[in-house]
Amino acid sequence: MTQINRPANPAEHRRTKSIASFATEKLEALAAKGLRRTLTPTARSGQSKALRTGRDLISFSDNDYLGLSTDPRVIEAGISAAKQYGAGSGASRLVTGDNPLNLEIETKLSTMKGTEAALLFGSGYLANVGTIPTLARKGDVILLDALVHSCIHAGARLSGADIQIFRHNDIDHARTILEQVRTNGNILVITETVFSMDGDSAPLSALSVLCGEFGAWLMTDDAHGLGVFTQENPAPIQMGTLSKAAGVYGGYVCGPNEFIQLLQNRARSFVYTTGLPPFVLGAINASLDIIAQEKTLGIKAMENAKLFCRMLNLPPPTSTIVPLIIGEADAAMAFSAALEENGFLVTAIRPPTVAAGTARLRFTFSANHRQEDIKRLVGCINEARTT
Ligand code: PMP
Repeated sequence: MTQINRPANPAEHRRTKSIASFATEKLEALAAKGLRRTLTPTARSGQSKALRTGRDLISFSDNDYLGLSTDPRVIEAGISAAKQYGAGSGASRLVTGDNPLNLEIETKLSTMKGTEAALLFGSGYLANVGTIPTLARKGDVILLDALVHSCIHAGARLSGADIQIFRHNDIDHARTILEQVRTNGNILVITETVFSMDGDSAPLSALSVLCGEFGAWLMTDDAHGLGVFTQENPAPIQMGTLSKAAGVYGGYVCGPNEFIQLLQNRARSFVYTTGLPPFVLGAINASLDIIAQEKTLGIKAMENAKLFCRMLNLPPPTSTIVPLIIGEADAAMAFSAALEENGFLVTAIRPPTVAAGTARLRFTFSANHRQEDIKRLVGCINEARTT
């Protein structure tokens, strides 16, 4: 018989391992792979500016595509809502009574997206982890594009449904999987309008037709599309966030009226969490008006991304996100450090956020960026590439 070498009392072993030593082991393993992350104190100090270790950097790492996070109209509207309603919202919206700003914002969102209704969530992450399990559960199938955001995976896992993955933007592969699916339950297909780490967009109309053929539901994550992505979106369920182009915080889901009411009853991350604070509601409300009225902001952000790509001989961008794939995590970190030396904040994105061997610099463009800053950035990139 094989001798198993284990302590007489397994609890003995557990007692010798402190939480700190458990965590240290994990952190050392991450560091050995060049993947340990740390927080760097950085103050956003005005339009696309970041103050770090006493230096002003120009940020190409914010998702503040329209520059609305520092727009005085947005900030003032937030302050005035906080003065009127207080700093916090008191409880969950179902418990404390619904601040009227919620409905005002939800009406603006559903009008903007062309759906019957909308529902605000605490964040985009909370919107996905609440919505997906409301749509699907054990016995159902969820089909995801290979590059969808981590919080979509989190929501899909929470649902208990069978999760299938199709190759990024590959409609034929999605079809092959759908042909093989055997379920009497529902099928939910989820993709992003604009992919967060690659900046490309999904073939929405082809996916919508495919879903129609197989009786599947299509849901899109428009986190990086709001205000900049103008393609028609045929998906009946459209989620998004107010923390990127809208410049504030919060998430939302737009869809049919009955489904929004079901979310109000069943989405755990809506029912069991406190409503957004009044400052955030006031600021979002003003920000959505600006997005609806000032279309030039999105156009300007896109023009900045186009200028950058033209100067670097990259294919024309489809969004305000442009990745420069470097490869190994260490090399991406070194490239990012070289740009920081030259006054630019461009954070390296490493696994597990992106696939191994595809660590990258992710440049994001805003209506706030000045052309001369983009030209100087390109000069520094070319210099860093040749040294
Ligand atoms: N979906 C995508 C595609 C995202 O990029 C993000 C944010 N990184 C989220 C959802 C989550 O949104 P939020 O930051 O509002 O939680």
